[in-house]
Amino acid sequence: MIEIIKIGFISITLIDLLDISLVSFIIYQIYKMIKGTVASQIFSGLIFIISLSFVAQVSGMRTMTWILRLVTDIWVFAFIVLFQPEIRRFLVALSKTKLLQIFRSQKNKNEVDLADEITQSVFEMAQVQHGALIVFEKDAEAKAIIETGQPIHAIVSKDLLKNIFFPRSPLHDGAVVIGGDQIKAARCTLPLSNISVVDGVQLGMRHKAALGITEQADVLVIVVSEETGSISVAENGKLIRGLSKDKLRKLLTEKLHLTKSSKIKQLFEEIRK
Ligand code: ATP
Ligand code: MG
Repeated sequence: MIEIIKIGFISITLIDLLDISLVSFIIYQIYKMIKGTVASQIFSGLIFIISLSFVAQVSGMRTMTWILRLVTDIWVFAFIVLFQPEIRRFLVALSKTKLLQIFRSQKNKNEVDLADEITQSVFEMAQVQHGALIVFEKDAEAKAIIETGQPIHAIVSKDLLKNIFFPRSPLHDGAVVIGGDQIKAARCTLPLSNISVVDGVQLGMRHKAALGITEQADVLVIVVSEETGSISVAENGKLIRGLSKDKLRKLLTEKLHLTKSSKIKQLFEEIRK
């Protein structure tokens, strides 16, 4: 191997440099991920002992090496056992990143089912002109919205959504929040938009609320009008009116897919929880 630097008896090759860079990069990434958590203290301890054991090994302290290797082995196992939930979340989230999604040719069956279940529900509510307001979380949890309503935590189903928005149901007023495959809350209050006319049509409170929340938070909102039975979608401060069933299904499949396969950033946030 070609030596590129030689300091006394130590010679450093290109592979060594690559090796050191890679290890530093990995350690830095892990540190960034767990910074500020209990895991970071334990991780620092682990790195310290591994470094010490490396020094002991290089300088030929045999007893020290033996003891430190014992401790390192135990520490690694302890780390895995203590942070088993975090490690599991990390691996699950990793499998959902875009890079790994390339290997999955088809969209997750659950995402298709979920989009279909919601589309069907929204369409049936529109047919009987039951008003509805549904907020979909994207990358971040919509905690501030959820807190204004009644917590639910139930798996999304067509009938449950219809039930919530049934005009005489105690939960029909306000907005429902959906995150992943869960209905997280109902009867939530949303901030109103200042915009009062879209495409020449006067907006009522429900549509203003739908628009208002997308101006302030990164969410997608579906509105079913009680007056006309039309379906609208709001996102990034824009309202699109009169969606067909097929358009809604397509949009939801796309959005739910994106939401669930979102970036490593979310994965880090999940670990920090
Ligand atoms: P629709 O076409 O269904 O009549 P709209 O846009 O004309 O809708 P309103 O008729 O004013 O709106 O709808 C009133 C309903 O909107 C309320 O019963 C309530 O459920 C909902 N709503 C009003 N304000 C808010 C708000 N700030 N946050 C959440 N929901 C709201
Ligand atoms: Mg109205």
